[in-house]
Amino acid sequence: MLCPLTAYPQQIKMRKIAYIALFISVFWSCQVQQTIVDRPIVFDDERIALTKEYLLQRYNVEQNNPEIKPTMIVLHWTAIPTLEGSFDAFKDTKLPNWRPDIENVSGLNVSTQFLVDRDGTIYRLMPENYMGRHVIGLNHCSIGVENVGGTDKYPLTKQQLKSNIWLVNYLAEKYNIDYLIGHYEYILFEGHPLWLEVDDGYRTEKTDPGTDFMKKVRKATKKFNFKPVPSK
Ligand SMILES: [Zn+2]
Repeated sequence: MLCPLTAYPQQIKMRKIAYIALFISVFWSCQVQQTIVDRPIVFDDERIALTKEYLLQRYNVEQNNPEIKPTMIVLHWTAIPTLEGSFDAFKDTKLPNWRPDIENVSGLNVSTQFLVDRDGTIYRLMPENYMGRHVIGLNHCSIGVENVGGTDKYPLTKQQLKSNIWLVNYLAEKYNIDYLIGHYEYILFEGHPLWLEVDDGYRTEKTDPGTDFMKKVRKATKKFNFKPVPSK
């Protein structure tokens, strides 16, 4: 039989190692600094002109620049499994033929201020205060955050969740953000003072980025006391 007195130092040593490993991993996860990587899409004179045209035609807003005053964050998923595929969807100035469903509305391509890769890397695709085309009715006041993936085969990752929470903190500390919404909630703003879309027939049904994802981001950012999404 093994004498307990000789076994203890070994157990204590193992426990010590386990505690040190745990401390290092917790310390490391808290210390990982998020950064924003600039990876600009094309925002040339034509895109600026089309953005101003969109503001005028869709929202009756006439101005000399494509700038917005952000008061809302809209979270999305791209439903495209790769970073490159997602980036390509936003890159060009004009709407490509694969989105003919909304082409008759405006030639301006869809875009988003931020794109979060599956490993959590945050890319800034355009100036934060330029209007992106990512949500009907509310582009004039909102910053879009797209996440690569989101399909059944490529559900959003834990790293993406962490980065979205970090981004919401970053944006809410920088701008006067009143609302944090998931794209699927945009329709609830019909009739709200922020809703400016002029065409009652121009709507698309959305499910991104999922109710579970929104619940987790909201829980982690509740200190900001964002206003509740209007109910119908
Ligand atoms: Zn979306």
